[in-house]
Amino acid sequence: MKGKNQKNQAQITAKHGTGQGKMKQNQGKVHKGNHQSMKPTKVNKIPQQTPVSRSNQSRPASSSSATSSSTPQLSALQQKFMDKLGGARFRTINEELYTTSGSSAFQAFSQDPSKFHIYHSGYRIQAQSWPCNPLDYVIQWIQKHHSNAVIADMGCGEARLAATLSNQTVHSFDLVAANDQVTACDIAAVPLPDNSVDVVVFCLSLMGTNLNDFLKEAFRILKINGLVKIVEVRSRFEDGKGIKKFLQYLKTTHAFQLIQTQDEELDTQLLDNKMFFSVECRKIAPRGIFTHNFSLKPCVYKKR
Ligand code: SAH
Repeated sequence: MKGKNQKNQAQITAKHGTGQGKMKQNQGKVHKGNHQSMKPTKVNKIPQQTPVSRSNQSRPASSSSATSSSTPQLSALQQKFMDKLGGARFRTINEELYTTSGSSAFQAFSQDPSKFHIYHSGYRIQAQSWPCNPLDYVIQWIQKHHSNAVIADMGCGEARLAATLSNQTVHSFDLVAANDQVTACDIAAVPLPDNSVDVVVFCLSLMGTNLNDFLKEAFRILKINGLVKIVEVRSRFEDGKGIKKFLQYLKTTHAFQLIQTQDEELDTQLLDNKMFFSVECRKIAPRGIFTHNFSLKPCVYKKR
């Protein structure tokens, strides 16, 4: 893939939380972000709808995509069996991701990268049944408001964000490198220097149990005034109170200022607020307090 998206694997020395992280010489150009477009406003409006978990209601990963490429000649019965097996494996891996720490997940996926591919075959199928794909919303938000920003896509999946924003510098991280754009790592420890990016994106990727570590890492790599953009499944926050608690948790870090989205129109058009919750925060201090963890409910998929 051409363009300015950066793959950092083996090219960047990781240093965490010390202020001493360094990029090696052959790392790609890093652009200055457009901070003028990042004005502080107020807390993102929380729509009043009852949280809905479509992910709990939607069909499981029962299509053949997890298995069919390697088994093209199956009978209908065999195919049905393989579909069920694929769906069951997807659900198991999904649950594993939501109930272990990022470092355990990284270890498990490094040992068996097929977990990543099975997971994403199922994920693609789940996403087809959603009213919108939140990544489309994030992409348009960046295109509209942060087209010069250096981006870190934490838990990038197959790196569609980097592929779409090919004229921007996008650092893509996931447990397994699905393609050349992606650096395999745990998003609690990414190989980027301190204060080096303008926007950190977590699109449905705050899966591990150590959420505090993910946000601490986002804080470390963000420049002052940089933004963290989080989109999550609304049902992961226990009732409406869970979102309030999450916003309070973000405040207690003394690291971030919650800000209102700069484009409510984009939110309304592109993000199904019944199903997804989005928040933006600005890094406002050189040091934060990340002493407490915060838990979100796992997003589980029921067997059909
Ligand atoms: N952001 C992408 C993918 C969402 S699926 C999109 O919106 O399309 C969630 C992704 O987060 C998965 O690819 C999973 O492997 C990744 N992930 C979860 N925990 C992670 C961790 N600790 N480190 C790196 N990636 C992680």
